[in-house]
This record gives sequence, structure tokens and C-alpha cells, in this order.
Amino acid sequence: MAEAHNKILIVEDDEGIVAFLKTTLKAAGYDVLLAGTGTGALSIISSHCPDCILLDLGLPDMDGGSIIQSVRQWTRIPILVISARDTEQDKATALDQGADDYMVKPFGTVELLARIRTALRHTRTTAENEQLGLTGIYTVGDLAIDYNKRRVYVRGQDVQLTPNEFRIVALLGLHPGRVLTYRTMLRELWGPAVSMDNKILRVHMASIRRKIEADPNEPRYIFTEIGVGYRLADR
Ligand code: CA
Repeated sequence: MAEAHNKILIVEDDEGIVAFLKTTLKAAGYDVLLAGTGTGALSIISSHCPDCILLDLGLPDMDGGSIIQSVRQWTRIPILVISARDTEQDKATALDQGADDYMVKPFGTVELLARIRTALRHTRTTAENEQLGLTGIYTVGDLAIDYNKRRVYVRGQDVQLTPNEFRIVALLGLHPGRVLTYRTMLRELWGPAVSMDNKILRVHMASIRRKIEADPNEPRYIFTEIGVGYRLADR
């Protein structure tokens, strides 16, 4: 169910899409704010402090990417990009600029509301992962990541990850449900000087999947966003 009175700002210049989003969000119990331009959006964000932003990238006066960058200078408010641009590069760039999620138009109401709920849940927890903050363990399905023991278990069995494999899974577990781009992961894991070749991630991921997934070709825990990055399943 929607959280009552959460304010969602829709930044979109296509009136048809605005009408669809507004109807959908109001029916789900959200308060809705509207902006059709980038300057309008920035002004509403600073004056009304919305709980979540749905952001179109192609606006009449500004590129959505510059809005993400300028909002990220002062707030962690969740930003979901909604865009017709569907290339891997577009997604990776928006996520690297600080967007929380990326949806390609057209999308359905079920998916939209699910992604908004995930984004709002992340706002309410400082570490993004409330369960982890309380217990030191993140579980989803039969998978458990124990941050204190630095072990990963599937159905209670230690899956014997290498230290690098553990670090990859542990990083994804800090942001369940969110796509982490290759660039973000490489930097977080190996520092800013690392070469931006994601082959190292692919090799480790193939090994991780053999250890944790029942069928590595049909993963249930770690999903690939092709050309963009990886996402750990959310509870
Ligand atoms: Ca547009």
C-alpha cells in the first residue's frame, strides 16, 4: 500500500504522460507536485521538499542530467528517471550522476508503484538497508549475507566466496533493489584509479552465480542490467 501523504514531484513536459502519472499516483494515495521545466523543478524541490522525484530527461529548458547533478549537491532525495532514452549509456550516465533508478517509457502502473515504494523505503533508512543496520545480516529468500562474519549462506550453507567475491556481494547488499553501475562498483571496490574495464566484475559474477544461484542462467538473487550494472534482489 502507498504511504499516505508522501509527496511525489513529477518533472515531465509531455502532458499525456503527466496525466497518466498524476492519476496513478493520486489513486495510490500520494500527494502530487508538478513541474514541466527544469527550472520549475529545482524551485519546487527547494521550496516543497518532495519525498521522491520522477524525472524526465528531455525537458524544454534543461537536460535531466544537470538536474540530477544539481539536486545531488544538497540532498539524497530519491530520483527515479523516466525516459524514452533506452541505451545502456543513458542509464549508466543517469545512475552515475546520482539517480536512484531508471525506467524506460512506456511502463505500467504496477512497475511504477513498486519502484516508488523501493525508492521511498531507501529514504527512511540511513544505511538504505534497515535490516542490515539492526542485525548485521541481510537476507533475501534463501540467501543471507553476514557482514560481521564476512560470509554468504544459501539455505544455511556457507557458499565459500573468495574475499573479492564477498566484497562484490556485500556492496550489492548495501543497496538492495538498486542498480549499481559497473563504474560505481569498480570505484567502490578497487578505488578511483581502477581501470574501467568491467571484465573483472563479469568474471567474479560468473563465479558468484555458480555458488549462490540454483540456475546461474536464471538468477534469482543478483540480476544483470545489461551494459549498465547489477542489482541485488530486494525483499
Ligand atoms: Ca520530455
